[in-house]
Formats: sequence, C-alpha cells, structure tokens
Amino acid sequence: MKFAFSPNLEKSFEMLVIPFWEGPIAAAEYSSLELSAALKDFTGKNGESSLLYQGSQRVLLLGLGKKEKATVEALRRAYSSAVRCASSKKIKHISILFPTCKQSGEFLQGIIEGLLLTNYSFTYKHDSLKTNPIVLLEKITLVGVQKTDYVERLLTIVDGVHFVRDLVNSNADDKIEMFLKAAKNLHPKVKTTVLDKKKLEAGKFGLILAVNRSSSLDPHLVQVSYKGDPKSKEHIVLVGKGVTYDTGGLSLKPTDGMVSMKCDMAGSATVLGAVKTAAELGLKVNVTALAPLTENCIGSKSYKLGDVYRSYSGKTVEINNTDAEGRLVLADAIAYAVDKLDPSCIIDLATLTGACVVALGDDIAGLVCNDEILAESLLEASECTDELLCRFPTHNEYLDDFKSDIADLKNSSGREAGAIKAGLFLQEFAGQVPWAHIDIAGPAYVPKPKFYNTTKATGYGVRLLLEYLEANGGA
Ligand SMILES: [Zn+2]
Repeated sequence: MKFAFSPNLEKSFEMLVIPFWEGPIAAAEYSSLELSAALKDFTGKNGESSLLYQGSQRVLLLGLGKKEKATVEALRRAYSSAVRCASSKKIKHISILFPTCKQSGEFLQGIIEGLLLTNYSFTYKHDSLKTNPIVLLEKITLVGVQKTDYVERLLTIVDGVHFVRDLVNSNADDKIEMFLKAAKNLHPKVKTTVLDKKKLEAGKFGLILAVNRSSSLDPHLVQVSYKGDPKSKEHIVLVGKGVTYDTGGLSLKPTDGMVSMKCDMAGSATVLGAVKTAAELGLKVNVTALAPLTENCIGSKSYKLGDVYRSYSGKTVEINNTDAEGRLVLADAIAYAVDKLDPSCIIDLATLTGACVVALGDDIAGLVCNDEILAESLLEASECTDELLCRFPTHNEYLDDFKSDIADLKNSSGREAGAIKAGLFLQEFAGQVPWAHIDIAGPAYVPKPKFYNTTKATGYGVRLLLEYLEANGGA
C-alpha cells in the first residue's frame, strides 16, 4: 500500500470519499462538486454510503454517524464501507477527505486502520476469479493531511494482522510448514529456535508429545525472540496455542464442531505476528513468542482417556477428555518458559474453550490472570485498540474439580465455568510468574464478515499485544 499526502483536492481522482456526520448536511462546503441533489436523501448514518458519478469520476458519500458520539471504532467501521465499495468497482486508488473534528490524531488512526484492515482478501477460489478477480486498494491519497510517518506505523501493524489472518485462513495441512518458514524469516533482529520432535522427546515435553501421538506430522516448539531493550531484564513471554487441526482426538468432535478447527492455532499465529511486528517497529522491549505446534488427530496411536502423561514441569495429568488438548500443549510451553526463559510475565493466547464463546460470544475474548497490574495493563490495551476483552474471576476453588485419583491433575472438569477452569489449569504451570491467559475462541475466527473483518480469521490480538508491548516496554 502506498500513501500520498495532498494539501488540496486534486482535479482528477478515481474515487473521492467524502465523509458526513449524521444530521443536517451542508453541501456548500463542497461547492466544486455537484452534491446537493444526492445529499437530499443522505442521512450520514454510520456506514451509509452512496456512490455518485461526476463525469468519469466517482464520489462516495460516506456516513460517519453522530459527531457527538463518534469513536475511533465508529470511524474504523465507517471507512471500511469505502474499501468495500472501491473493491466492488475494481478501484485501486482512492482519495480520502477527513471529517471535521477535534480528536484528529485518534480519528486518523481509526480511519487508516479501518481502511487497511478491510483491504484484505483470502481465497482458494479458482474459476470465479477468472471472471471476477479480487481487486484491493494499492494507493490511498490523504487529502488535507500533512505527511506523517504515523500512517506507515499503522501499515506495519496491520501487515502483522494480515500475516496472522493468512496463517489462520490457510489449509490445516499446510500450516506447520508455513509456520516454520515464517518463523525462520520473521525479521533480521529476531532469533528463531525450533525444537523438533527429537528435541521435544529429549526435553520431556510429555503433554505436547501426547497430543501429537496420532498425527502424521511431527510436533514442533517454535521460539522467536526479539531483544529491543538489551539493557533491561524485563522479558515478556507470549505463548500461543498452536493446534494446527483439532479433531478432538478420541473424544471426537461432531462435524459441526470440527469444521472451523483449522483456526485452532490462531493463538500461536498471533504471538508470532506480534513479535514480528514489534521487531519491525523497533519497539524498545524484550519479547519472546512460543508456539507449540501439533495436530490433535484420531488414530491407532491416539493418546487415551484414563491414561496419565507426565508434563514438562513434572506434574502428571490424567486425560479425561482428549478434546481438552490446547491446555496440554500450552502447559508444557508455559512450564518451559518459566524454567528456561526467565520471564517477567507470561501472556498466553488460545482458542481454548467453547465455554468462553458461550459466555462472551464472538466479539469478546476472556481474560484469566493471576496479577492485578498485568490484568489492568491488558484491559487498557484492549480499550485502546477496541479488541474487546473481559476479565473472568480467578476463583481458585474451581481447581478442586481437577483432582484426580491417580495423577496430580485431570485435564478437564466438566462444562460449568469452563473458560475460567481452563485458565486455572494453565495457572498451575506458571508458578509464581505474573501470568495472563486470553481465550480468543470467539473473536479469532468469525462465521461471517463484519465491518473490517472481511474473512473468517480476524487477527484479533495483534494490535492489542503491540499496544501492551509498547506501553510496557522500556522507556
Ligand atoms: Zn480441542
């Protein structure tokens, strides 16, 4: 994407986007354009758009909603309509006017993010592309805005979101190879280490290996580290669930529950994307991402209900539900972080529980956290990026439900409070380290396009993590 900055409206443009707040609309300020007739029926409601032709040029009237209720998120949503319209008309270059408002800095962010996040497509279509090719924007001219590097920064961040969307939308069978390739080429300042199956066996990652038993693809633990603040001992470790396909194992999922399960590695894609973007932005922060990667398949070697497996930490786990596998691979990765990486905090992201979706729906992720400051910082970051996050109570008594007769823990404890309990299970492997678990089962992969989320994979969490890293890195 190229950005151009123009002090005044150029005489010729492919599509000019003119924003209007909801309410009485004055056409006079755009007197060089003949808008008065079209504006008669235009209300300015958020997302409303009307395409006009002025000779060979296109003008898109864009509704922003009520000015007094305007938010950054409202502008993201409104400007996403402009990209959808441009794409439907196969237009690669749009010129954007800005609304009159006081909060120009924040609103510029909303507008640019809305445009860039919407300007994404992912498809395996073949035939229909011959007659109806997908056209994305290649250039945006910002009219009346002084040149600023800020938009390049936003472009870098949204590229990180698209990196995650690509990994999550891709075929399950391709994912491990894609991950390994991406991790090795993440950024020149990022150090990548990959523990393959032999190393995982030597390191006694018993839970990752248990989940992997029936897969034809080897498990990997990918570690990517960016040291942007070498003088500081602060070290934020991000851990992402990387189940590249989840059949449920012997506790087999029904078809309806399995059809979206190529998304079950969204957490690991997100933490990888966050480290890549942190390096690209040159953030002054030390951050490592861990991605435990494996499929959860079904077959003659499947790990078994009733059997007990020994985790990296030494704790033993009795399996009573092979579909509660995400917490197993995360438990080994979290314990490894505590043991080897000297973390100042650990944040894990995972499409972990259907229970979280029942509780919070597709729009909101769930937070379980053992540290007040860390929880507060993550909730603040979520408010800044409008990636919604709701904290669950850390009710430790629920841990009693994981008691096993023959092992230290069971891996599942029934349906009630499932999202909280999954977090409490993970907490057992974080020791005394400040730790947060973000369950992204709802917002990571959505059934239908919505506003600037144009495909199933949304890339939820990348912007939130970067906001957190930026706010909590070195000064
Ligand atoms: Zn599962």
